[in-house]
Amino acid sequence: MKLMRVGDPGREIPAVLAEDGRIHSLSGLTPDIDGAFLEAGGAERARTALARGELPEVDPTGLRIGAPLARPGKVVCIGLNYRDHAAETGAAIPTRPVVFMKDPSVVVGPYDTVLIPRTSVKTDWEVELAVVIGREARYLDSPSDAAAVIAGYAISNDVSEREFQLERSGQWDLGKSCETFNPLGPWLVTADEIDDVQALDLNLAVNGEARQAGSTKDMVFDVAYLVWYLSQYMVLRPGDVINTGTPAGVALGLPGTPFLRDGDTVELSINGLGAQHQTFRDA
Ligand code: ZN
Repeated sequence: MKLMRVGDPGREIPAVLAEDGRIHSLSGLTPDIDGAFLEAGGAERARTALARGELPEVDPTGLRIGAPLARPGKVVCIGLNYRDHAAETGAAIPTRPVVFMKDPSVVVGPYDTVLIPRTSVKTDWEVELAVVIGREARYLDSPSDAAAVIAGYAISNDVSEREFQLERSGQWDLGKSCETFNPLGPWLVTADEIDDVQALDLNLAVNGEARQAGSTKDMVFDVAYLVWYLSQYMVLRPGDVINTGTPAGVALGLPGTPFLRDGDTVELSINGLGAQHQTFRDA
């Protein structure tokens, strides 16, 4: 099941992408795709309604695709979660997950313009697997309990400003929560559609040149472990998002590689989760 939100920013309607590529409205079923919808088994109701032919089609002409999740409660991020990325940044392989938070209001659609902050000279890209939580996770007993709380997955671009992140502050948040810094989507793909979440290819190109090519099999801490681990420290709630880390190939790790400038384009994909495309513009 591929859940979507379509329409102008702030006025998106909930929708679903059918197998035949047509988009159907979920407006008759729910006001939006959010934590409450996921927790109440909304994806299953959408599946049933689609199969019964009860969902009206949406005209795709000129239609904007928004983030597939409305108002995430929080965006929790994992740093240095791929061995090759830790190595390229000169960091040690973490023995515990590196956890930081991102302002959830910076989530935008997968094809929206991303703004390069004023005074920025080191705006960087990070293709990531995003986990969307569908049920409360509080002190899970073991990683094997994680699957029951995961609603699905999406592509995330954990856009980062390296000077803000690493040179202007002792912790990372300044370089992570800039306006528009988290394109998400195009779809929230329900977990049942992903056979093995630890066998997904992640790719990212800048201006058509390949920069990142990784696999979720190379995560230091896998998805189930991360959900279990985080639940020991914070309550994960329906509609929360976890960015699970990025593989090697960011500008920070490639000496001589230019950081993003006005007019640059970035394309991201993860197999089964679709593709994103953004143009970067000066704020
Ligand atoms: Zn990241």
